Amino acid sequence: MNQLKKHISVKCINFNTQSTNTRTRSISNQVSKNSTDRSRSVSKLCPAIKLPVPTKNSESVSMSNSKPVSKLGKVKIDLGNKATSRSQQTTQKSRSNSQISKEESFPKMLPDFGRMETELLDCQDFMLQLPDIQFPTTEDIMKERIILANRIAYTVKTKKRIPITTPDFYKLCYVIGKGAFAKVCLGIQILTGAKVAMKIIEKSTLKTESAKKRLLLEITLMKILQQYQQFASLFEVFETKKQIYIIMEYVEGGDLMKWTKEKPIPEGQAKNLFSQLILALQILQSHNILHRDIKLDNILLQGEQIKICDFGVSRQIIKGQKILEQCGTPAYLAPEVISNKAGYEGFASDIWSSGVLLYILLVGKVPFKGNNMNELNHNIQNGLLNFMEMKKLNLSNDAVDLIKSILNVNPKLRITSTEILNHPWLKELNLKSNKVSTQNSNLDLRVISQIEQFGYSREFIIKSLQKQTLCHINAMYSILTKVQK
Ligand code: ATP
Repeated sequence: MNQLKKHISVKCINFNTQSTNTRTRSISNQVSKNSTDRSRSVSKLCPAIKLPVPTKNSESVSMSNSKPVSKLGKVKIDLGNKATSRSQQTTQKSRSNSQISKEESFPKMLPDFGRMETELLDCQDFMLQLPDIQFPTTEDIMKERIILANRIAYTVKTKKRIPITTPDFYKLCYVIGKGAFAKVCLGIQILTGAKVAMKIIEKSTLKTESAKKRLLLEITLMKILQQYQQFASLFEVFETKKQIYIIMEYVEGGDLMKWTKEKPIPEGQAKNLFSQLILALQILQSHNILHRDIKLDNILLQGEQIKICDFGVSRQIIKGQKILEQCGTPAYLAPEVISNKAGYEGFASDIWSSGVLLYILLVGKVPFKGNNMNELNHNIQNGLLNFMEMKKLNLSNDAVDLIKSILNVNPKLRITSTEILNHPWLKELNLKSNKVSTQNSNLDLRVISQIEQFGYSREFIIKSLQKQTLCHINAMYSILTKVQK
């Protein structure tokens, strides 16, 4: 166990050929942090409140109005309707304006993923009715939702643009994972009440141009992959003066590191997880994406479905391109990545890492050990696999054969993803390459009309969805379509 923890500290030398960035972190830290943080459940924090059936004359609430929210069902928000007093209007206007100018008064690091300014954007009416909230939530969140909806509708009406997402669109609950550059938190999206995962990156850690490029690449790859159920969906991206927020689907089951607890799991269960991993690697390969950090803690579980996360060192290549960078997690590194003499083709290296992961699932220990990095690298490069452990556990011959075929030190002779799916160990599952995306080309009009209630015109929402902007309109759409399924 200690050996395992020792070898899973991360050293990542990458980014570009010019700069060398080394990050270290210990998974044992993560595990202990996770276990304490995760013991709190959100439902405890957010007891469900039952909303009364809305009446036609629902009460009108403006930002300066603090009526008790729990008594309100669908809430009409008031954007300066005639009944609102002049002073109320002024307070509201100045607050909104100061909020907007605050939003815009810092240098931006991200490209314009999310903002669409268009004459099409109009708030048809001064009075809006918020849709019913779809998730169990608290009274506080309901109050914040009304304030936020007010601000959105005000910006749409007066500025004819979508307001920039700010951190108050989300309620931060607690940290679920911490890496060298980022922390991942559980959050709640105020507009829908849905749980989300929030990856928060301090801008101060993005000192070099290559680090900034790397983050943009991570976001771009997540955007490409969000259509597949095998990857945690990307909802939206926004920035503040000091931080960048990546909002993703929250994968409730946590990562495999926590789930397996470093103990061997039965072959049947391992088959299910591993075959999904190989299918996901095939999707990556079809987009020419190398993950380069396949390991237990980057594989999340949603029920029985795995979802790969962390594209922090991933990249897209041109077919046949050789890679020179060395990156990943030491215990999972393929021999060609370590030796890196004439460059390597990365797909086989991801397959190697998946073989290390399979070994850990079945044996509960890493396949290659060493008292220091040199010894570990030497053992990996010479394929000095610990067969005794596999024998002790009475693993089936097919399982042992598959592990041997994956952990072949010669990447050219290493088994491919298609061959893995046809290997006797997995053959009974009758798996076929399944690259079916979850994205439905037909837009869900029920969800669109819910978003319309926040003051965006139907045309504008559809345009935003078609353009696949990374803004809160698309975030709401992705979240709500998942719920409607
Ligand atoms: P690293 O330094 O390894 O690159 P990181 O800072 O890039 O880490 P991630 O690896 O993306 O962060 O996430 C850290 C941990 O947070 C993961 O191991 C996982 O346990 C948890 N996590 C990440 N994304 C999600 C998600 N969408 N849902 C639930 N948990 C997640």
